[in-house]
Amino acid sequence: MSNTDTPNQYAMQNPLTQYPQPEFPHQTQTPPGTVHDLHPAADHGEKSYRGFGRLAGRKALITGADSGIGRATAIAFAREGADIVLSYLPEEEADAGEVVALIEAEGRKAVALPGDLKDEAFCIELVKNAREALGGLDVLVNVAGKQTAQHDIADITTEQFDATFRTNVYAMFWLCKAALPHLPAGATIINTASIQAYQPSPTLLDYAPTKAAIVAFTKALSKQVASKGIRVNAVAPGPIWTPLQPSGGQPPEMIPPFGSETPLKRAGQPAECAPLYVMLACQESSYITGEIFGVTGGNTLP
Ligand code: NAD
Ligand code: MG
Repeated sequence: MSNTDTPNQYAMQNPLTQYPQPEFPHQTQTPPGTVHDLHPAADHGEKSYRGFGRLAGRKALITGADSGIGRATAIAFAREGADIVLSYLPEEEADAGEVVALIEAEGRKAVALPGDLKDEAFCIELVKNAREALGGLDVLVNVAGKQTAQHDIADITTEQFDATFRTNVYAMFWLCKAALPHLPAGATIINTASIQAYQPSPTLLDYAPTKAAIVAFTKALSKQVASKGIRVNAVAPGPIWTPLQPSGGQPPEMIPPFGSETPLKRAGQPAECAPLYVMLACQESSYITGEIFGVTGGNTLP
């Protein structure tokens, strides 16, 4: 599948055959990877996502917005009427530039603020700069993440363990902490957990616990800020076709069958995650907070 023959995600069809099914070709990338080295190409809704004004005038900060799930979310948010600050790593400028162009094509504001979320000072600056650039902030979407597969605990260095927790857990904490004093009633925070929080793979001994931490953090924070009228939820994807996976997120031999273990027998696409982020950001989900929603191809959450 190429970006030019993306399926219509609104036409009723069999979800088993809606998108490419395993086997995928063998492929590896150097982290953080790029959408352009994914074979087959992933669908981020570039050609298909249709907005209905559900986020008209909202101001959103989205991390990991250059590629994968964050890219699909950024495209969907812009088509729903939001202005967006995109966070990503400096080496991901090429992917991010395409998302900026797609957002601007919708007549929305796109502000690129690259940098390393492992750094607390950068996270604090990011929220401040995002507020200044957008004239406020009312949606924080934490999508950025690090995943590095290792077969043996002996091969997980303290540096890897630390970087995974900093990227996935500490950055979320720092960004929420910096944003919350400025978020108005009606604002929403959406975190990105994983099926790994509930069904951890033996190769993801550092990553899976970060996702369990995100689940608990999301539930606890939702109760803490409910009285302010701020809602906090998380999306927990199953296997989704993004650069994270062939860039060391899976052992190389797990890429060809990636997603085949799900009841829907294939990997999900970023475009299949974005509608849930939209729903959780917009006012239609006004009575939903502290919840974790799976996008797992049928490997149900507990
Ligand atoms: P992706 O590689 O497209 O996105 C991850 C992004 O994280 C990168 O693009 C990068 O911009 C950002 N990032 C990583 N380290 C960073 C750092 N130090 N500073 C700033 N940004 C940094 O992959 P994706 O699969 O779309 O990942 C998005 C989220 O979804 C992650 O939290 C991941 O854990 C989660 N997730 C993915 C899957 C899957 O199968 N792809 C499954 C469950 C959960
Ligand atoms: Mg990327």
